[in-house]
Amino acid sequence: MEGRDVLISGVVTDMPQRNEAGLRFTLAVDSATLDGEPVQVPPRVDVGWYAGVYSVGGEQVALQRQPGDLRAGERWRMTVRLRAPHGSRNPHGFDYELWLWERGVQASAYVRAGSADPEPQRLEQTWTHPVALLRQSVRERIYAHVEQRQFAGLIAALVVGDQNAIDRVDWDVFRATGVAHLVSISGLHITMFAWGAAWLVAWLWRRSGRLCLLLPAVDAALLGGVLLATAYSLFSGWGIPAQRTCLMLATVALLRLSGARWPWPQVWMLACAVVVAVDPWALLQAGFWLSFVAVGVLFATDAGVARPVAGLARGTVSRLAAMLREQWVVTVALAPLTLLLFGQVSIVGLAANALAIPWVTLVVTPLAMAGVAVPWLWDLAGGAIAVLMQFLQWLAAWPWATLTLATAPWWLAASGVLGGVLLVARLPLYMRFLGLPLLLPVLLWQAPLPPVGEFELLAADIGQGNAVLVRTATHALLYDAGPRYSLESDAGHRVLLPLLQVLHTRLDLLLLSHRDTDHVGGAPAVLAMQPQAKLLSSIAMDDRLQSLRKSQHCVAGQHWEWDGVQFSILHPQAADYESPHPPNALSCVLRILSTGARSQTALLVGDIERVQEELLVAAQAPLKADVLLVPHHGSKTSSSEAFLAAVQPREAWVQSGYRNRYGHPVAAVMQRYQERGIVVHDSPHCGAMTWRSDSPSQTLCDRSVEMHYWSHHVP
Ligand SMILES: [Zn+2]
Repeated sequence: MEGRDVLISGVVTDMPQRNEAGLRFTLAVDSATLDGEPVQVPPRVDVGWYAGVYSVGGEQVALQRQPGDLRAGERWRMTVRLRAPHGSRNPHGFDYELWLWERGVQASAYVRAGSADPEPQRLEQTWTHPVALLRQSVRERIYAHVEQRQFAGLIAALVVGDQNAIDRVDWDVFRATGVAHLVSISGLHITMFAWGAAWLVAWLWRRSGRLCLLLPAVDAALLGGVLLATAYSLFSGWGIPAQRTCLMLATVALLRLSGARWPWPQVWMLACAVVVAVDPWALLQAGFWLSFVAVGVLFATDAGVARPVAGLARGTVSRLAAMLREQWVVTVALAPLTLLLFGQVSIVGLAANALAIPWVTLVVTPLAMAGVAVPWLWDLAGGAIAVLMQFLQWLAAWPWATLTLATAPWWLAASGVLGGVLLVARLPLYMRFLGLPLLLPVLLWQAPLPPVGEFELLAADIGQGNAVLVRTATHALLYDAGPRYSLESDAGHRVLLPLLQVLHTRLDLLLLSHRDTDHVGGAPAVLAMQPQAKLLSSIAMDDRLQSLRKSQHCVAGQHWEWDGVQFSILHPQAADYESPHPPNALSCVLRILSTGARSQTALLVGDIERVQEELLVAAQAPLKADVLLVPHHGSKTSSSEAFLAAVQPREAWVQSGYRNRYGHPVAAVMQRYQERGIVVHDSPHCGAMTWRSDSPSQTLCDRSVEMHYWSHHVP
């Protein structure tokens, strides 16, 4: 049914997310019909309802119907176009297909809302999702009350667990200072909330002698703490970290109530076993391992989590001191693991967390929560956030704010994690210092790079566009920077920067073939994070990108050598810049030649079309190549017979989006490649593609390296 228009009716399960492109929501489907016949579709579908101009055959005819005012629990009937759950696949990248699988979503769709389509209909309000509806109305009240959008987004994140309105710039600051966990409803959050709730319940319980006779205050506090924390987790969206924390807290609390006094390793293992039994995919999530190790460290160092209630009698000051100590212990012990999972650890994180955790958990969150009852407290919460942001921005500006390292293999990382745990364990000091040498392998690890004379190509899976990373022994070049997805997101921010980070790559050169947005969309983000990179391109001298980095024109004849690998530009000619040309015609064509044992050539050609191909052939340019980046994503305007006869590639790569609207690569064009016996790989089937000139026989597909049962099998 993919690509067909299906009439479905179903209930909106959660509060919809609105962004500049439109509305996104999840629908629990009750019925579906295709051409009047009932059909079966996946029970949960992620639906997008986009605003904007409606186009028919490339002609913009009428404004598309604007998204309606959807509320959680409403039943709607609408015509949608279904799509299999397909995400981009990159080395160590985010697995979108797993994320959907965990949420039970097995299709995505968008609403057909053109003027010719039947209008989406609201059928009724059901009461099947009361918590989501309540969250939605609280979120609306926050936005109505708090004028500054930045603060409103953060308050909504803390109260109803909706992080979508947090600015990208703010996220960068949070990540750089290692406090991103504070604005999501994390395990730490829920645990803190449970502590506070337990303390309050115990305090109230002790007021009544009769209640204490009925149930000891300590037990009441345990029960109350867990129940209230669960209620808070539900209200904040019942996210996966919150679910795990509630399960862990409940397990520990039940053990205590049953009177069992198990040694801590057993308690720890039981809590984690319960989590994995309920959600087996937790094992694949970085967050699970972080909290698993964090809880273990807290147990091992005999800190508070092991006895959430025992410390109730202690004074506030000693409780705060203990909390700070725990924070310090967890941060140190988790640093190697964070580095392993995210390739980045915040050096200033300790300072940032030492102040931000108490500030957010003791001041901002209580104010934000109390604002639900007394809205003007949200203004105070906004003020408290402003103070925090000032402090964090100041910290993030430090030159050594974050340490990034290449992602090491797991056995090195395991040694690092052990080292971190040893450093904070309750052992004699000289034994703790044994943790230091265990940390060294992770810190000194270098990702494998091609030897001198050889090069590596990595075509990132960025959807419809081009982005190919070329690395030699000590240099790196990025050929194009992928598309822009929306106002807020692009391939640079979403795919290329994380990729450069896990590979620990500093770019010497960003080469932008031409100015089309599927090639330069990610460029601003890449330029911002790679200040040393030079820019070579065919973009005009007055292009917006020139203000970010001065660009030099690519001109045929330019050539350079890096580590025994030769790079040369074959197109465009200097004269081409003197008369107006369509952007595609100016695409920079790059030839790369290895000088190792088997000399291998790659040809990256951007979006050149038949005319440019024929000019190159006529000029007898050195086109022959082993690997060719298929021109213009396999469009019918390119890959002419004469060009293919001149290049004679062994392998050809198509970088295109899954079911992209241009129909790239065109079947007739692919036929030309097949007739010549050329092996073709495309990004929808292959994910990221990797190839090295010193083992040139095959392209490595990221999708086939790790094919899982939740992965989309592209037909
Ligand atoms: Zn293009």
